[in-house]
Amino acid sequence: MHSLHLGLDYELLTTDYSNPACFRLFLLIINFLMKIVKHILHGNDGKPVNFVATPNRGGVFGAGFPKYLIMHYTAATTAQSAISWFANNKAKASAHLLIGRDGTITQFAPFNIITWHAGESQWSGLIGLNKFSIGIELVNGGRLQKTAGHWVCSVDKKVVPDNEVLIAKHKNEQADAAWHTYTEIQLDVSVEITSLLVKTYGLADILGHEDISPFRKSDPGPAFSMSSFRSKCMGRKENTLNVFTTSADVNIRSGAGTQFIPVTEMLPPGTKVQVLKREGNWSFVEVLQKVHGLNDVEGWVFSKFLVS
Ligand SMILES: [Zn+2]
Repeated sequence: MHSLHLGLDYELLTTDYSNPACFRLFLLIINFLMKIVKHILHGNDGKPVNFVATPNRGGVFGAGFPKYLIMHYTAATTAQSAISWFANNKAKASAHLLIGRDGTITQFAPFNIITWHAGESQWSGLIGLNKFSIGIELVNGGRLQKTAGHWVCSVDKKVVPDNEVLIAKHKNEQADAAWHTYTEIQLDVSVEITSLLVKTYGLADILGHEDISPFRKSDPGPAFSMSSFRSKCMGRKENTLNVFTTSADVNIRSGAGTQFIPVTEMLPPGTKVQVLKREGNWSFVEVLQKVHGLNDVEGWVFSKFLVS
């Protein structure tokens, strides 16, 4: 059992993420303490984290990969069910890491080995993201349902307390639903590990399973704030030089080409976006305002419809 035990100092340092200096100091300390040795995560005690080898894995990544990190929820309320599942060859599923609700970390395969977390998926011209990404699973009940007056995980049917429930509209959906919230320690540990992975492997971006498989998957869902997570882990700053507005109704797509499906309805003229990268005539943008009732919308738009 490994998690981050920095005692009181850790508590003090994690309490004020809104203070950027404090947050950077915290990351510095954590990155100093956690490390990756031969593609295995080591905790702040210098020892490898809990390792449960999965049979559900491929070979070594090809040159230039992994390039992305994909975030998931387990759709179950306990770490043990995911650990047993990923260790079972019938599952045909795995990930590199699992982060429990208490921050406990389990690794299933070295980071240079392909795991099976993404399934049918596409992003930025790549098909089947297992071959191109590291996968992190967060223990979380996902989409909840109400049964006999209680919110329960729709998969393992365990009751989720009312104070761990968020009612929100998924960015790929039209109606409100109930979602299991993540714990603070789970998110803190995720930021620490992800920052280290981004640095170690030079990852280009962090995505949700819902971004690469939008018709099949809802994880990590609205309870996970991807834009804040990304900015903490990638050190991405708001840069006014890269802020544009749309000049017409513009499709925003899951990849750089018209063959990719729109991630939501068209962006109306005058929508403020930040360009994060470019590929040919296409720009990958983060929408800086709420559109169609959705926060944190991201995708590819045709660059000629962006004006500064
Ligand atoms: Zn997933």
